[in-house]
Amino acid sequence: MGKKVLVIGEIREGSLRHVSFEAIAAAKTLAGDGEILGVICGSTQLEAYAKEMVYYGANRVQIIENKKLKTYTSDGYSQVILEVIKKEEPDAIVMGHTAIGKDLTPKLASRLDVGLISDVVEIDVIADNIVFTRPIYSGKAFEKKIFVDDMIFATIRPNNIEALSRDESQKADISKLDVEITDLRTIIKDIVRKTSDGMDLSEAKVIVAGGRGVKSKEGFEPLYELAGVLGGAVGASRGACDADYCDYSLQIGQTGKVVTPDLYIACGISGAIQHLAGMSNSKVIVAINKDPEANIFKVADYGIVGDLFEVVPKLVDEIKRI
Ligand code: FAD
Repeated sequence: MGKKVLVIGEIREGSLRHVSFEAIAAAKTLAGDGEILGVICGSTQLEAYAKEMVYYGANRVQIIENKKLKTYTSDGYSQVILEVIKKEEPDAIVMGHTAIGKDLTPKLASRLDVGLISDVVEIDVIADNIVFTRPIYSGKAFEKKIFVDDMIFATIRPNNIEALSRDESQKADISKLDVEITDLRTIIKDIVRKTSDGMDLSEAKVIVAGGRGVKSKEGFEPLYELAGVLGGAVGASRGACDADYCDYSLQIGQTGKVVTPDLYIACGISGAIQHLAGMSNSKVIVAINKDPEANIFKVADYGIVGDLFEVVPKLVDEIKRI
């Protein structure tokens, strides 16, 4: 029998995050021939986002508009999503494993006293069981879990589960739901973003990352150029961040962001275990390092032993010629 699965859509800088569509694809596996219900929260004009959820596979979408939901607060969003869950009684609730997903889902799961499986990279149906796969021990192993509870929460790691193809001919019921929000304990007055190029590292398909080998802030310029011609984002090791070559918002690794792009180009990064924890599941890894013994070559699909200041500009020139 099919299940009812609720997908919480997430808006970031005027568009739905791609991981919300990946969450719909995950929900499809969970739902079988059941129903996928999307929910979108915000202050106003949410119909366009709801339609996008429908084009990517949601069977029904509920919009919750309230000026108190203009920016995410754990307090406000949990109040309204809790109401939707009580009303709809879904079998599962899915959203992206993003900063908001990591904040909201444990709070809701604990309120409802149900299970949560976080950072899921794969969902399969094996002998009528739904099997979730997630990395453990900083990506060195994967565990598979079967859920037996009546209701479960799951967060999906971006860039791992492929979204369904967008189909504008899809039609579905989009309705508004009024939910009263009691006084919020937190009010966000302003958000000042500290990212250099605005691209979200966790969803980037191509990442050019620099380490201490980049040697200075200016040393990152060729990396930005390479990321530019490849349509990607720039990331960094903690070594580069600690040395003040770039902002900590770019840090990838155990204590930074976890990324799984299609292509990860590591420039002047030694490949410490804490860095690998954040990028070793990238689909293709290219390492550029002067030291042929550098640990990063152990996880790289392609290695270039050389000076990054010679190699990176050559790559930029070659890519521009294509
Ligand atoms: P280095 O180890 O100094 O490596 C620099 C590399 O650049 C060398 O391999 C060198 O051969 C190469 N190089 C130098 N010049 C050139 C050149 N011209 N061309 C090509 N190659 C060149 N680190 C993270 O990255 N992310 C984390 O989240 C993280 N969390 C941590 C958490 C804890 C609790 C601890 C203890 C550490 C953590 N670290 C983390 C730090 C980690 O252990 C390493 O110190 C760090 O990753 C090293 O950064 P790096 O590779 O840039 O520098």
